Amino acid sequence: MSASPTLRECISNCALPANEVRILLAHILEKYYQLPRSALLSRDDISLSEQAFGEWERLVARRMGGEPIAYILGKKGFHNIELEVGPGVLIPRPETELLVEIALTEITKLNKHVRVLDLGTGSGAIALSIASAMPLASLIATDQSTEALAIAKQNAQSLKLLDQAQFLQGSWYAALTQVSQFDVIVSNPPYIAHQDPHLTQGDLRFEPASALTDYASGLSCLEIIIAGADQYLKPGGLIALEHGYDQSEAVMGLMTAAGLMEVQAHLDLAGHCRVASGRKRL
Ligand code: GLN
Repeated sequence: MSASPTLRECISNCALPANEVRILLAHILEKYYQLPRSALLSRDDISLSEQAFGEWERLVARRMGGEPIAYILGKKGFHNIELEVGPGVLIPRPETELLVEIALTEITKLNKHVRVLDLGTGSGAIALSIASAMPLASLIATDQSTEALAIAKQNAQSLKLLDQAQFLQGSWYAALTQVSQFDVIVSNPPYIAHQDPHLTQGDLRFEPASALTDYASGLSCLEIIIAGADQYLKPGGLIALEHGYDQSEAVMGLMTAAGLMEVQAHLDLAGHCRVASGRKRL
């Protein structure tokens, strides 16, 4: 191969799946040539500079080592926003957009200024996509990880949402600095059981364990969050929580036992019950 391979050569010589090749090369094109992704087709005769080719090789090596694309690129699209992500935060998943949609429906229905609490915000994905879609919502987003909160705040700043979102450090409700009640509580807590083999597979190997597992049965964080719902929700307020595909009954049981009303399961696009919601009595 020549010292400066063309895009076409990079594409045909790469062992990664075609869609991943396109994503990584599009990043190189944008960074070094300010060209859009469509140039992968229309200008595939471009020869990469030594510097661009060096970076291409480094990106491919990282991906071949299993590192998630989102960490390699440092960003991930979620709902209607793009977030900066890094190894200190869970990579936002498309399934979690279901939780956002449930919150948005509720906020739209209330049609007034609403207060929303996002527990364990990570990159800020849930809180910031709600804030971005709902100018009438103000959010408190918590995390026990200062590293995660720094990323979430940075995302809030880039998205110009700092006036709508406040970030507090601490474990679940303990992060709150004053006694307050919310119209909506949302959370995507760590719910994978400690011994689940998925933790040692794929992208999950690179993500913070504390964002994935409760180091127990998978239900302990969900339990803590549900136990606080009565105290931290306004009368009639809604709590909606993401959980594992096989935890629906258990989570709905916890919600019912905690005295919540209108306890419901919500299906994700794949047809799995991934969110449970309940309402505080009026
Ligand atoms: N949805 C993630 C997964 O299954 C887990 C996220 C979480 O534990 N909250 O990979």
